[in-house]
Amino acid sequence: MAHESQPYDIRTQPPPYQSSDATNFRMPYQQQQPPPPPNYGVPPPIPVYTQTTTIVRPWGIMLGHYPQPLQCPSCHQQIVTRVDYEPGGGTWLISLLICVFGGFLGCCLIPFCVPACQDAVHICPLCNTQIGRRNVF
Ligand SMILES: [Zn+2]
Repeated sequence: MAHESQPYDIRTQPPPYQSSDATNFRMPYQQQQPPPPPNYGVPPPIPVYTQTTTIVRPWGIMLGHYPQPLQCPSCHQQIVTRVDYEPGGGTWLISLLICVFGGFLGCCLIPFCVPACQDAVHICPLCNTQIGRRNVF
């Protein structure tokens, strides 16, 4: 009696995970799949450029190789920048090119004496704040 009743109970009350193939397929898939990243499928946030760029930003101004008038971002005075020339990466590159192309007898040191071959560091003459730097290239 008991030997026949056990398979009969299993058929009448199947385990819930075998009741439907759809749930049996979805359960391990949901367990293995981590929660989707928050930005997956979501369009990337559009950078907001609504801020007016008409404001004069001396720090982002295009500086030349020579002194130029602008408003000092530190002391807010209308000044003409003082330019110090410092050897930068471009200076070394020019010197290296001179050496490669046959510049001997110290010719490769010429870029270190020519302001146009050096970085221009713009400094406020009033407050000595470094306003910007113009590289050779
Ligand atoms: Zn200044």
